[in-house]
Amino acid sequence: MLEINGLSAWYGMHKALDGVSLHVAKGEVVSVLGANGAGKSTLLRSISGLMQVSQDAGIVLNGQPLSGLKDFERVEAGIALVPEGRGVFGELTVRENLFMGAYPKRARPQERNNLERVLQLFPKLRERLSQAVRTMSGGEQQMVAIGRALMSAPDVLLLDEPSLGLSPLMVSELFKALEQVRKADVTILLVEQNARRSLQLSDRGYLLEQGRIVGTNSAAALLNDEAVRKAYLGG
Ligand code: ATP
Repeated sequence: MLEINGLSAWYGMHKALDGVSLHVAKGEVVSVLGANGAGKSTLLRSISGLMQVSQDAGIVLNGQPLSGLKDFERVEAGIALVPEGRGVFGELTVRENLFMGAYPKRARPQERNNLERVLQLFPKLRERLSQAVRTMSGGEQQMVAIGRALMSAPDVLLLDEPSLGLSPLMVSELFKALEQVRKADVTILLVEQNARRSLQLSDRGYLLEQGRIVGTNSAAALLNDEAVRKAYLGG
């Protein structure tokens, strides 16, 4: 489904990603774990076209190279990003935020079905469709952000630190909701500092350090790996 071959990204002279290769198969949930500044957001920004990367960057979705496509063209191609900090519109209602995700041509004919699917995944949102998003809890706002991304019926959903800034209770609720999304066969590439939770949700994981992939394995193997536990899972 999604393949990345030798992706490098720079901020001026600073190389934030250095030859990153990874793949996500259809229906898989894959985590990228890494400390602050490892390059996780840069990776997702590069895939979604928010950041220019070197020409040789082979980002391929369903066999189609994405190089040269703008961010909105990548949404049409099947990539949806839920950015760090969510990017929801607080003054607008849940319904309005969700329908903003339905603008791509690929999604418009299906918007009613997609809305129904999102509301089945996040039943809490159904009762709140007319509520302004700013009046909702951080966890609920994150569900709106994920729901909006799902309204474009993406082939791959990119999630950037969805649990950031949420209370422990809301983190649990969010991961329960993500479990439902996973069960609905959505393909997900997830970057998270909450490594344990994200691996519990995932099929496989990659370890990113200073812009390089330094390891990869099944999520179960990573959860049981001594070195991974020490470095990423808090011992
Ligand atoms: P975090 O969890 O803190 O967001 P991250 O793993 O997502 O970390 P990135 O945000 O991708 O990391 O950053 C990777 C590296 O690139 C870091 O060294 C960071 O300081 C640097 N960087 C990120 N954004 C910029 C920018 N706009 N200009 C210059 N350097 C940047």
